[in-house]
Amino acid sequence: MDNFNPTDLWNRCLLEAESRLESTEFEAWLKNSTYEDINGTRLVIRFRNSFVAGHAKSRFGDMLEEIIRTISRRNELALQFIGDPAEPGPSSTEKQTPNRETPSSDYSFLRSNYTFEHFVVGPSNQLAHAGALAVSRDIGSTNYNPLFIYGGVGLGKTHLIQAIAHHLRQEGSKRTYRYISTELLVETFIKCVLLNDYTLFRKLFHGIDYFLMDDIQFLKGKVETQEAFFHRFNELHQQGKQIVLTSDRPPHELPDLPERLISRFQSGLVADIKPPEYETRLAILQLLVRDEELEVSLDVLDFIASSIRKNVRQLSGVIHRLAAMSRLTGCRIDMDLAQKEIRSSLGTITRRLTAGNIASTVAESFDVSPSQLKGKQRKHSVLIPRQVSMSLIRELTSMSLAEIGSYFSGRDHSTVLNSIDRIKELKAKDPELERKIEEIKRKLVSI
Ligand code: ADP
Ligand code: MG
Repeated sequence: MDNFNPTDLWNRCLLEAESRLESTEFEAWLKNSTYEDINGTRLVIRFRNSFVAGHAKSRFGDMLEEIIRTISRRNELALQFIGDPAEPGPSSTEKQTPNRETPSSDYSFLRSNYTFEHFVVGPSNQLAHAGALAVSRDIGSTNYNPLFIYGGVGLGKTHLIQAIAHHLRQEGSKRTYRYISTELLVETFIKCVLLNDYTLFRKLFHGIDYFLMDDIQFLKGKVETQEAFFHRFNELHQQGKQIVLTSDRPPHELPDLPERLISRFQSGLVADIKPPEYETRLAILQLLVRDEELEVSLDVLDFIASSIRKNVRQLSGVIHRLAAMSRLTGCRIDMDLAQKEIRSSLGTITRRLTAGNIASTVAESFDVSPSQLKGKQRKHSVLIPRQVSMSLIRELTSMSLAEIGSYFSGRDHSTVLNSIDRIKELKAKDPELERKIEEIKRKLVSI
């Protein structure tokens, strides 16, 4: 293979994956993986251990292969994930931090640049930022308990909640915290159930002043963990400890969480983060460029800020990729390069999110054919996926109800509207269906 450097290729793949995934996910599963060897057309990638390798393969394998093929323009490439057998003992997903400065802090999870200094404030995130700053300066004297921050993917929730942790750590304060992803909380709880020993779970909440939990929407469906969490939450709250939670949606829209938990979440400050306005996007780009020590002219930044509007992670993804490209090839970051990069990243987005793509992904998940979805059959096994497709197309594209109707063989807009309502109802009643839809969505919007 001429002109082909697999180490670089894997590193670029990781950069792209990082821009697409939740940062906690990226750090837990992919961050320390390395290219090891090439086996025919397979790149062999080494992970911390075989457990991590297996998990990374099942969760991200398809996505990583797609990225590798796109970057290298070699469709024949595939990936092989390896790792030594996992050590017995604590779960390998639990970060080992031998040199913890205090027993209650998970420094290993914090990303070094997720600080307040690196957070650009604008109208879209002002309230959430102010809330985060207030609770990190002052404990107990604010009414912001819990502080509940919500907003869409890639808008800075993890950044803000980690900024609180950084602040507590930097000021050398005696105030201790626990920062944890909800996924890790659930995993820890399940481990305790299996061992029939809840010490580990209790420890998460013990001896800390701040409890910071990211992505609370993942509590969905975990009834026992919810119950246990509810009690710990109340205890912390009564003791005047500060609780901060993030979520991809507001409390009242969290599916199947018990009402009492939701009303607890609403009892402090609920602050949303919206997609940033142009000026904020531009300021974020300037910050990123400064961090990467790049030279990029204002018109190029203006072009990027005007092209990518909904997701800060995509903005930083573009800058990281441009930086990598310029480092790897020595080229300047000019308008030409930026346009190419944007075209390819927007290309991925639009390619993913057409009605056709959504419908065929849904069809595949429900084991029906795309033409059945468009057809007339009203039996349950076809009707449900058809309605799911309509509601996902409505959610993920800018198509109008009428346009969606006409995509489904000329149905009218009220049929589409009814379908969307019906799916909403069914989801509320049927966690299995809801999970399935979430899974499809994840597949579609991993950008
Ligand atoms: P979320 O948790 O909401 O999905 P993240 O906190 O992971 O999003 O943010 C995605 C990326 O965008 C991160 O690299 C983060 O540093 C960056 N980011 C988001 N908002 C801002 C902001 N206001 N200023 C600077 N960087 C930001
Ligand atoms: Mg996040």
